[in-house]
Amino acid sequence: MTDIQKMYIGGEWVDSISGESLEVRNPATGEVVGRAAFGDHRDALRAIDAAHAAFPEWSRLLARERSRYLYRLYELVYQHRNELAELVSAEMGKPIREAKGEVVGSADYFLWYAEEAKRVYGETIPSSFPNKRILVHRQPVGVVAAITPWNFPVNMVARKIAPALAAGCTVVLKPAEATPLSAIRLFELIHEAGFPPGVANLVIGQPDKVGEAFLKSPKVAKIAFTGSTRVGKLLMAGAAEHVKRVSLELGGHAPTLVFADADLDLAVKGVFESKFRNTGQMCICTNRLYVERSVAEPFVERLVARVKKAKVGDGRNPDVEVGPVINERGLEKVLNHIEDARSKGAAVVCGGNRLTEGDYAKGYFVEPTVLTGVERGMRVLEEETFGPVLPVAVFDTEDEAIRLANDSPYGLAAYVYTRDLGRAVRVAEALEFGIVGVNDGAPVQTQAPFGGFKESGLGREGGHHAMDEFLEIKHISLAW
Ligand code: ADP
Repeated sequence: MTDIQKMYIGGEWVDSISGESLEVRNPATGEVVGRAAFGDHRDALRAIDAAHAAFPEWSRLLARERSRYLYRLYELVYQHRNELAELVSAEMGKPIREAKGEVVGSADYFLWYAEEAKRVYGETIPSSFPNKRILVHRQPVGVVAAITPWNFPVNMVARKIAPALAAGCTVVLKPAEATPLSAIRLFELIHEAGFPPGVANLVIGQPDKVGEAFLKSPKVAKIAFTGSTRVGKLLMAGAAEHVKRVSLELGGHAPTLVFADADLDLAVKGVFESKFRNTGQMCICTNRLYVERSVAEPFVERLVARVKKAKVGDGRNPDVEVGPVINERGLEKVLNHIEDARSKGAAVVCGGNRLTEGDYAKGYFVEPTVLTGVERGMRVLEEETFGPVLPVAVFDTEDEAIRLANDSPYGLAAYVYTRDLGRAVRVAEALEFGIVGVNDGAPVQTQAPFGGFKESGLGREGGHHAMDEFLEIKHISLAW
């Protein structure tokens, strides 16, 4: 059990000012798997001060030196991947194989940005005057406050702090209350990597109070957030007071379009992965499946056969493909979505219930569920379910498929299955989404930009694009 009831501020493990702590429970069993400190705005202010004090020196370090710290952190995260994965699985229920994938992917962010740190290039622009030169520099924005969710407890942290540190920013991280344990372990590794005190700080505590400290403090230059659209909007509004920079990775409602000309086996595999991975708790999860009418029946049959084979259980068991949902609130939402669809006429083709027999009774397990005959007006087609429920509808034409897919305030990920190259290009270009997987149910890679259109967010994580989120552009006009 992890029992480090401290926060990491200014290079030291310190008690929270309130002295309060928090229990972390495994959603598969209800057992307590760890304890963490649980502070408030006062701890956040201390951490902001530490980050602010560390900024001048860290931002002036040679890029190569910052790169070396990040590289050491990459090596440490990779070395400790199994231990971190076990923590992730224990604190949020993710199948262990996926947790390992998450941690290895997180290590890769530190590696990638160790390299990217060295490539913050500027520009020279031809001047309109013979005695003037235009130089463009890119400089770190300052202190970054990062707020992360529980669904990828290590990855979401790595994806924010790696580019921020590479750019020369210092950071204060507030992880989700449900998953502080892997964040604590990660910060122990940050300490071991030898980062100077105050460069990276960890505060665990009351979300609204910590969030308010981040927004009110003029020392915080930038808020980097992943979480719900509701909280993202609050942060964006709050950031207006000091015109802080924000990057927001918010909710999604990903459509998947399966055309009659698709490789249906590939589509089954891709849809299964993008719907049920992480027990349907990803903002890029397929949330609505639209299948061309002529293949809808055979496709749904094959898909249901695959879904029925999925083993549900405690994520620490290596055979498990679908774990529990995160908590009681998450469970209720999923069951409400199923019930709402059922009561409005959808057919439950498989699953549809909470699992309550034997060991399942201790956790928040829902049968992997497929619903057909879903229509607009049902919650499953309008809100993010964040659980193992797949609503299926049919379409007749390419235009209709595009219209249905775009009919949402969200615009994070969308998926298309077709063998027709022209259609792949037309549809991918017409979709109002930041990420489009064409015959690909798992489109995220370290070096590719990740982010949403519309109410799914602002800014991009991943790739060289994420560096821009942590850099200001400065024009130096040089005259003589
Ligand atoms: P979810 O519903 O998936 O938990 P949230 O948006 O509530 O999504 O949580 C994502 C992150 O935002 C978590 O770290 C959470 O503690 C934090 N959070 C929640 N409310 C606030 C708030 N008012 N201000 C700042 N952070 C918040």
